[in-house]
Amino acid sequence: MSVLIVGSTALDSIKTPKAENPRLLGGSASHAAVAASFFAPVRLVGIVGSDFPKRYLQLYRKHGIDLAGLQIADGKTFHWAGEYEVNMNNRRTLKTELGVFETFQPELPASYRQTPFVLLANIAPALQHHVLDQMRRPKFVIADTMDLWLNIALADLLRLLKRVDALVLNDSEARQLTKEDNVIVAARKIHKLGPRFVIVKKGEHGSILSGPGGLFLCPAYPLAKVVDPTGAGDSFVGGLIGYLASAKGGIEKNLRPAMIHGSVVASFCCEGFGLAKTTKTTRAQVQQRVAELERMTGS
Ligand code: AMP
Repeated sequence: MSVLIVGSTALDSIKTPKAENPRLLGGSASHAAVAASFFAPVRLVGIVGSDFPKRYLQLYRKHGIDLAGLQIADGKTFHWAGEYEVNMNNRRTLKTELGVFETFQPELPASYRQTPFVLLANIAPALQHHVLDQMRRPKFVIADTMDLWLNIALADLLRLLKRVDALVLNDSEARQLTKEDNVIVAARKIHKLGPRFVIVKKGEHGSILSGPGGLFLCPAYPLAKVVDPTGAGDSFVGGLIGYLASAKGGIEKNLRPAMIHGSVVASFCCEGFGLAKTTKTTRAQVQQRVAELERMTGS
C-alpha cells in the first residue's frame, strides 16, 4: 500500500566539528520519503522554490517517489542551517529561512486522497490539518512535531492530536507537552489527548512505544561513528510507516517490527551528511542490519 508524506522539503546547511556542507537536500518530508521508499510506494506533498537543484528532483525520482504533490513555486526553497557540538547530541539552529514555505497551502492531487497510510511529518500543525481535511478515511495517520510548534502553535497541535492514530516526538518534547518528567507518565497523558499510539524517541538510546498492547522498547542500532544525525528522527518515522504499509496484518502487530526497521534506516542516515548515505543504501543492507539488531537484542 502507498504512503502519503507531507512535511518540509528543504535545503540544509549543516556544520559539524569535522566538516561543513551547504545546501544539501533536506527537510522532514525528504528524509521520511526516502526512508519509506525502501518498503512502499511514496507520494510526497511539499513545496520547493525555483532555486531547487534539478539533481535533487532526480534523486527523489530515483527512489520511485511520486512528485505529483510537490509544488514548485517562484521564490526560494526553505533553508535551514544547523551546527552540532562535539558530542553530536546538541544542535543549534543557525538559520531558518521560510522562503516559499511562508505561503504554502498543501493541495492534494485527486489521486492522493485515498492513500491508506499518512505521515504528517514535521511542519506547522495548521498545514498538517489542511492535508487531513483533504483525505478520505485513511487507514493509519501518524504525526510528528517539534518544540517550535509546542511553543507557537500549541492549540492547533492539540486539535490535531484528536485526529491522528499515532504521535511521535522526542523525550524533551513529550516533557514539554505534558509538563511531566517521567516519559512513561508523559505517554499516558498524551494518550488522553487523542492518539492510541505514542512513540517517544530518545536519540541514540532508542525509542519507546506505548499503545493498547502495552510498552515496546526499540533500540537504536549502535554506531561507532556518527557523521551527521540531521533527519534521523524523520528517517525513523519514514521507515516505520513505509514498513507498516508493506506488511500484512494488523497495525498493532506490525508496529514493533516497523520501529526496528525505522531505527535501522535512521542509523544509515546518521552515517552520512544529509541524505548522502541513506540514498546509497540498499534494501538488502537494511535487512542485514535488522537481522543484526534482532540478534543483538534477543536473549
Ligand atoms: P531532525 O534532525 O529529525 O530534527 O530533522 C531535521 C530536518 O528538519 C532538517 O532536514 C530541516 O530541514 C527540517 N526542519 C528544521 N526546522 C524545521 C521547521 N521549522 N519546520 C519543518 N522542518 C524543519
